[in-house]
Amino acid sequence: MRTATFRPRPPAKAYPGVEVLTVTDLKQWAYCQRIPYYHHVMPVEFARTYKMQRGRDIEAAVQAMEKRRGLRRYGLERGVRRFGVWLHSPTLGLTGKLDLLVVCADACYPVDFKDTEGGVRYNHRIQLAAYAMLVEENFARPVPAAFIYLAPSRRLVEVAVGRALRRAVLGAMAAIRRMIEREEMPEATPVRARCVACEFQNYCGDIW
Ligand code: SF4
Repeated sequence: MRTATFRPRPPAKAYPGVEVLTVTDLKQWAYCQRIPYYHHVMPVEFARTYKMQRGRDIEAAVQAMEKRRGLRRYGLERGVRRFGVWLHSPTLGLTGKLDLLVVCADACYPVDFKDTEGGVRYNHRIQLAAYAMLVEENFARPVPAAFIYLAPSRRLVEVAVGRALRRAVLGAMAAIRRMIEREEMPEATPVRARCVACEFQNYCGDIW
């Protein structure tokens, strides 16, 4: 099918005049807008949760398993797998580390690993769209498809990263920057079940 020569661009060193955001900020903004506030505006100590450690363990386990498998389940015959790829965009002022990138001669396919039982959610989709945009800029190749690997059920889910989701990425970035500039604490998530295992719950006194 395709050969896998590629030449990633070197990471940008500085983003003058731009508040640099991470792809994780976008995921967290969609989950609870207060979390990026605590990271950027009011940096606080937070507890490393069991969930975070388990996330790292899952990542290592999935990497080991992926290395033994072929690319057929991605619908590809040939490509190079790169794990833990750092991506940077001076244009967007965005940076992030992607779990897996399959690089083909004329396209790239980002894959994000998730340790979740509940299927693919909106915050996962917006995160994947942000990775797709970074990959396109860094590797100068289109991203026709992107994937989420749900580790507990060992399911691979293809996610369409179309225009609407990309617009949502840009809209969320603008909103996060506005929040940082104004130093405004956002409303708590209306989904209060999320607060139960949240590492910032000590700082959200208004909801407990
Ligand atoms: S405790 Fe709830 S409202 Fe506060 S940051 Fe965590 S998820 Fe958001």
